[in-house]
Amino acid sequence: TSFEALPLAAPIQRALAERGYTTPSPIQAQSIPLLLQGRDLLGCAQTGTGKTAAFSLPILDALHRDPQGLRPKSARVLVLTPTRELASQVGKSLENYGTYLKSRHALVYGGVGQRPQVDAMRKGVDILVACPGRLLDLVQQGFIDLSRVEFFVLDEVDRMLDMGFQRDVQKIVSLLPAKRQSLFFSATLAPPIVKLAHEILQNPASVTI
Ligand code: AMP
Repeated sequence: TSFEALPLAAPIQRALAERGYTTPSPIQAQSIPLLLQGRDLLGCAQTGTGKTAAFSLPILDALHRDPQGLRPKSARVLVLTPTRELASQVGKSLENYGTYLKSRHALVYGGVGQRPQVDAMRKGVDILVACPGRLLDLVQQGFIDLSRVEFFVLDEVDRMLDMGFQRDVQKIVSLLPAKRQSLFFSATLAPPIVKLAHEILQNPASVTI
């Protein structure tokens, strides 16, 4: 199969073509059609397999097809990552795949001043890429509102749990609307990870590569 065979909007196809992407990786070929149908997803995949595009492309497509004005302090998409390095990489991927789209994103993580992040969230964004600790900190200070999230992505959950973020993740989930599309990626599926996945996902499709 080719990307052209997938029902992704023209501005996304154009960005992919310019970057020389012709063939979806296995996780992309399996996940993208399910995600475009609105399914929740439990993905078992390592880094470097193309999982960032697997979740970014269908979400960018959905935002493009249903454009909405920004809402103060809000985001339509929340991507949780364990580290700021991964958050930055996801942000770069969103910029690449979204070159010809209007979607706006912000990054929120610890270890740097919160002021620029608070400013970035003031008018709201389409996509918020965040690490759990700083995200909850800004939510508790009233600078971020999670009540309008439509798409929720947890990336590298195994590392998130290794870093002790389980309770933060559960707290964040409790602040999200019940009606949402959730995507959960982990390199391993040990029992505690599967248990957490089932607390978060509704009738998920499973993809393992
Ligand atoms: P990821 O696992 O999504 O971080 O992707 C790993 C690397 O592969 C990144 O540098 C992507 O730009 C690249 N990549 C992902 N999917 C494809 C694809 N279908 N064709 C070519 N390169 C890709």
